[in-house]
Amino acid sequence: MSSRILKKIESRELLRQKIVSDLFEIKEMINGYFHYLKVRCGDQYCWCMKTEGGGHPHQRIQWKINGKKITRAVPKEDIELISKLSDNFRKFKSLRQELGKLEKEVRKSLDDYEMSLIKKAQKLRPYLMIEEGVTAEISEKTSEKPKRKKMKNSRN
Ligand SMILES: [Zn+2]
Repeated sequence: MSSRILKKIESRELLRQKIVSDLFEIKEMINGYFHYLKVRCGDQYCWCMKTEGGGHPHQRIQWKINGKKITRAVPKEDIELISKLSDNFRKFKSLRQELGKLEKEVRKSLDDYEMSLIKKAQKLRPYLMIEEGVTAEISEKTSEKPKRKKMKNSRN
């Protein structure tokens, strides 16, 4: 039982190290969303006026500062750079999310491991063994509120 839990924790640890090293691979990023906007140029003879939902693609980077949306046009020569920086941010966020999930799993496994060690030790001596029904009873008794003593002035 406990060795199975340990193996699980160890494999999670290895995965964790892998994710952390992947995180460190990312050297720079921008916390923005890179996308294309379709914009009609206004020339009534242009193709963009004739097609539905059509327009000339304009590349933008958008991010938030204190909840306020900021949008900037991205020069053509920077498309590769900015989309890469934006992708890096998305990757970073998803790696951190994975890391959080792993850490939660390890915490859960450690809880299980802790319990398995306690149960193992309880088997060593009969007086350490307490059935679960009994512990529920004990905790019920201890959680009972102490009866209030009557206050002196209530006698009058
Ligand atoms: Zn046009």
